[in-house]
Amino acid sequence: MQRLKLGGGATGKDIAGRMSDNWIYVQEPGVKVGRLQFFNNWSPYMVANPDYVWIGLEYFCDEGDILWTMDDDTMSSFAIEELHRINVIEADAVLDHVVIRVPKTYPAYFGSYDRFAEVREFTDSLENLYLLGRNGMHRYNNMDHSMLTAMVAVDNIIANKTDKSNIWSVNTEADYHEEK
Ligand SMILES: Cc1cc2nc3c(=O)[nH]c(=O)nc-3n(C[C@H](O)[C@H](O)[C@H](O)COP(=O)(O)OP(=O)(O)OC[C@H]3O[C@@H](n4cnc5c(N)ncnc54)[C@H](O)[C@@H]3O)c2cc1C
Repeated sequence: MQRLKLGGGATGKDIAGRMSDNWIYVQEPGVKVGRLQFFNNWSPYMVANPDYVWIGLEYFCDEGDILWTMDDDTMSSFAIEELHRINVIEADAVLDHVVIRVPKTYPAYFGSYDRFAEVREFTDSLENLYLLGRNGMHRYNNMDHSMLTAMVAVDNIIANKTDKSNIWSVNTEADYHEEK
């Protein structure tokens, strides 16, 4: 990975020339960061000031573990050091940072999950309740699946269809490939 040297004179506009990806999974050994997002490359409208580069670092962890319990300043320093070590930025180029902890990001397929059908049967019986998306359906839906469940639900509502099986059929294909 090429060092971007963001900061020392580099602007948000420079990033497009040096890093064209929206997101990259990090494979380097010895760092905990799992994925980088270059928000400027998703859309200039995602950043308040396109003259600055916003990089998102995703750390996958468990509630209560060492990453989760780090205070914000320690977490930020840890992340900045990792980003520097894998040659993405100069450590002193960071102008601002924020730490957001998101609990319950992944639907758990253990515990009482084997009785999920009972929950679905009950919620399906409520005619005007449509469970959608990732947490709504407690299913590992990606964004496209989540949007599709909403679109199918709207079609059902317009057609006065109360059977929700076509919503539950979204994201049940055997093969699912994420492609750029
Ligand atoms: C760490 C992580 C990485 C991911 N990576 C990818 C990826 O690379 N590609 C991909 O396609 N998908 C990815 N996803 C999945 C994607 O984010 C979800 O599939 C998608 O956002 C689900 O959309 P949704 O509308 O169901 O829920 P959400 O986007 O979670 O929206 C639900 C909204 O409801 C609001 N809300 C909750 N409770 C209430 C309430 N009581 N009253 C009012 N509002 C409420 C929440 O604040 C939230 O804004 C990732 C998810 C996570 C957590």
